[in-house]
Amino acid sequence: MNILVLNAGSSSLKFQVIATDHKAIDADADVCLARGVVERVGSLALVTFQAGDRAPHKEEVPLRDARAALERVVRWVISPEAGIAGVRSAADIHAVGHRVVHGGERFQASTLIDGAVVAGIEDCVELAPLHNPANLKGIRAARELFGPGVPQVAVFDTAFHATMPEAAYLYGIPYHFYRRYKIRRYGFHGTSHRYLAYRYRRMLGLSKEKVNIVTLHLGNGCSACAIKAGQSVNTSMGFTPLEGMIMGTRAGDVDASVVEYLSLKEGLSLHEIMTILNKESGLLGLSGMTSDMRELLAEEKENGDRRARLAVDIFCARARRYVAAYFAEIGGAQAVVFSGGIGENSAEIRARVCAGLDCLGLRLDERRNSALKRGQAGLISTPASRLKAYVIPTDEELLIARDAYRAVAGRRSPA
Ligand code: ADP
Repeated sequence: MNILVLNAGSSSLKFQVIATDHKAIDADADVCLARGVVERVGSLALVTFQAGDRAPHKEEVPLRDARAALERVVRWVISPEAGIAGVRSAADIHAVGHRVVHGGERFQASTLIDGAVVAGIEDCVELAPLHNPANLKGIRAARELFGPGVPQVAVFDTAFHATMPEAAYLYGIPYHFYRRYKIRRYGFHGTSHRYLAYRYRRMLGLSKEKVNIVTLHLGNGCSACAIKAGQSVNTSMGFTPLEGMIMGTRAGDVDASVVEYLSLKEGLSLHEIMTILNKESGLLGLSGMTSDMRELLAEEKENGDRRARLAVDIFCARARRYVAAYFAEIGGAQAVVFSGGIGENSAEIRARVCAGLDCLGLRLDERRNSALKRGQAGLISTPASRLKAYVIPTDEELLIARDAYRAVAGRRSPA
């Protein structure tokens, strides 16, 4: 079955076409037929499409909205120019899987989309005002374009964390705010953490129940997850993606009193302070230079920049703190798994995070750590290390495609 996987952002549309079915899932042999991204949707869009390993197709074209962007994607996917085997018309797309950021408490698993599900995702807009409206635009565009004959499935960033116990998801504020407004930790990056747990158990030949690990998704957004018996029992992002680790531009954990104090001192509105915490803090705010980890590491190395070093040190210390906390929370982890743009590509950050973790039995193997190639998964701790460390490139799209396939196959043949 050919699944179109869509990740609709506020001004971008990312996609993959993935061929999968029961056999492919069992053999771990799903195939990514094509991928691409439309950036700057709403103006002169920049389009990058790639089929298989062939050279990417790039163009600039005005695309008004999500619907126009999706039409362009589908037109290319089915074109002779893309030349994707078995995909010659829109009818060769059998289902669509959508990444949806917030599923609230209602959506605890991937769900076939109907009118009620769209309304449910709309209800979650309050909880994710920046993300869910964009995801909904993608869903509406795909439902219009493909019609009722092509099933659509929503895969939620929050769903993997639905297994967190109350003790992990409640904040220490009056309980009635949870009852009234559902103020609690939800957690995000769930599909990525779930993929890392899955890939880890495949690599080691373990059953799901045997997986006790701490996963670190370190990209522009960063989160840690405590995974016990294959399930999320805690995660560092909270009510919104602002909480937890130091990120590209997000502050992560901050004493809430800072908000009032800043407002008094600078005469800023709540909205302005939230903008500072979300968009001007983290690596960018600390360094005063950039949110890009690669640039910070270069500044530190080439110019000995003190603020760049400080930003990176604080980033690594915060990551280490979460690893240690979650190690204890799951009663001793087997491994720490690094992923995301930073976790997958920066041997230096991995080394600096691991440097303080020898007390938990982690011994980094410097050679393995620096020898790992881009896109490769592998062990980076010594064979004797009690707590192992791995790098696993994440693949949220694969799980979205598989969930879409399963939801559709389940509906067609309940057996
Ligand atoms: P997103 O969270 O938006 O998907 P990514 O997962 O692509 O982002 O991560 C982006 C981050 O990864 C940036 O800070 C970038 O500098 C960092 N990064 C990518 N490659 C490297 C590298 N070789 N060394 C250090 N950081 C890197």
